[in-house]
Amino acid sequence: MDVKYLGTGHAYEAPNSNCECDTCDAQRASGDPRDRRTNTSLAIKGVGEDYLLIDVGDFKMQQGGLRSFLEREEGESIAKGLTLLLTHSHPDHVGGIGEFDSVVRGGNSIPTYAHELCFGRLEEMDFGFLFKFGGVLERQPLRMNETYRFGEFDVRPFKVDHRSPIAPGAVGFVIDSVSEGKRLVYTGDFATMEDPSVVTRDNKPINLLIAEANWFNQLDGRKDHMSFQELLPYIGRWNPDRLQLVHQGADDELTSEDDASLVFKKRAVNPLLDRVPRTHREWEGAVRKVFLKDSSLKRYLSQEDIITYDGLTVGV
Ligand SMILES: [Zn+2]
Ligand SMILES: [Zn+2]
Repeated sequence: MDVKYLGTGHAYEAPNSNCECDTCDAQRASGDPRDRRTNTSLAIKGVGEDYLLIDVGDFKMQQGGLRSFLEREEGESIAKGLTLLLTHSHPDHVGGIGEFDSVVRGGNSIPTYAHELCFGRLEEMDFGFLFKFGGVLERQPLRMNETYRFGEFDVRPFKVDHRSPIAPGAVGFVIDSVSEGKRLVYTGDFATMEDPSVVTRDNKPINLLIAEANWFNQLDGRKDHMSFQELLPYIGRWNPDRLQLVHQGADDELTSEDDASLVFKKRAVNPLLDRVPRTHREWEGAVRKVFLKDSSLKRYLSQEDIITYDGLTVGV
């Protein structure tokens, strides 16, 4: 299967045009196209016509929008083999969902799988019409830890805690390509998990782990997202062949260059490194420094695409 990263950023665009924090300044100054990130969203293509779309971002910010994604990739056929999976109801993951109404017509509704509580939030956000009156999306509530067959994919959702009740029903996914015998795991947004062992309960190896790393160091007073530092025990436990990190942006640590009154920035508790990575290149360097120091993680040093960027496609 191929994973295409439609977006790899945090809850806002990165750099944020209204933000003068050290991170946004560094991203604007870098001249590196990989430092322009839209909301995290993945398209996974199997060997046939099957396609999984995980989250839609706020598609108004995505390059070309949902319409051009559907048309650019496969023309009309993509809507036939497409299954939409939603990790949770935050606007940076579902904000663009209304666009399906103008893109998908002609009686083909797209099967849409999410936790029941996520569907409840979508209704509160007035997106319920998409599922009604012969709607363009077909509502399919997910039961945790059950396996669903979508064409050649087996998909198993697992529960994560992304600061419930702020994000009720947040999930990650174990995704198998049945014909290729490959597995990827995507955590979605998460701060912690009650039972990380559910991910590897059948002892099949993970070929690729796609994990949220919203921040580099663990931050004091922020318990709603995952940091690279706090992700390390999960990597050790799940032991994936390859690793890719998503959801980076400026919602990160207060640096010495920052105005201390920036309310969304916090200080690190016990930093892995003193210098906080701000750009794609700095993140690559920082992650490598940590892997060099830990013999169990050294094998990831041979991988050049640990830090993802918008438009990146990888084979699993
Ligand atoms: Zn998010
Ligand atoms: Zn979120």
